[in-house]
Amino acid sequence: MYKWDWAKSTENKVIEMYTSTKDIGSLQRPMILIGGLHGDEPEGVYLGQSTLHWLNSVDNKTLKDFILIPCINPDAYSKNQRVNARGVDLNRNFPSKNWSSEYTQERYFPGNSPGSEIEIQALLSLIQKTNPRLIIHFHSWKPCVVVSGPDNLFEAKILAENSGYELVQDIGYPTPGSLGEYAWHDLQLPVICTEDEEHRNYDLAWQHFGEGIKKVLLK
Ligand SMILES: [Zn+2]
Repeated sequence: MYKWDWAKSTENKVIEMYTSTKDIGSLQRPMILIGGLHGDEPEGVYLGQSTLHWLNSVDNKTLKDFILIPCINPDAYSKNQRVNARGVDLNRNFPSKNWSSEYTQERYFPGNSPGSEIEIQALLSLIQKTNPRLIIHFHSWKPCVVVSGPDNLFEAKILAENSGYELVQDIGYPTPGSLGEYAWHDLQLPVICTEDEEHRNYDLAWQHFGEGIKKVLLK
């Protein structure tokens, strides 16, 4: 596994990335795993860090190709706020066809234009460069696994079965400019969003999702 100082946040913090091979161009349709898109969901960052810890303990050869970004929104995480340092909800800033400038609450501000945020721009170029076969991002709210992708997506079933959380196709409200809308609906690239139970002991996140993440990453 290789560590990269991959990108810089709005406030110039390093966003770390880990990959299964040193040559990013040689990755074969990797899986991208992302924590911390929302900085006030520490369970998601903890799950990213726990995944990293586990990856460090296993033989790289037993793993499928992956890219792990444990915390993509470090400015927000350091302030325990949902939005990035410019007040933008990163999961409403993807340039999906249905991106909308409308929002109901400050914490859902989608930015002044689609893809306006530096953290999202970095991810967009990574997606373009590596053509991932699946993106999984880690959140916390009400426990569930949200799949934006084909029916019977193996990895979604595994993550739901192992956590005991319900597998749903839709979070229950519109999310224009979200990663799921952009990657699946526009690019046909499947996305899984794990939602752990919020405001509990956040190290439970690995207990809930760790087994599923191992099965998804192991060859
Ligand atoms: Zn979230």
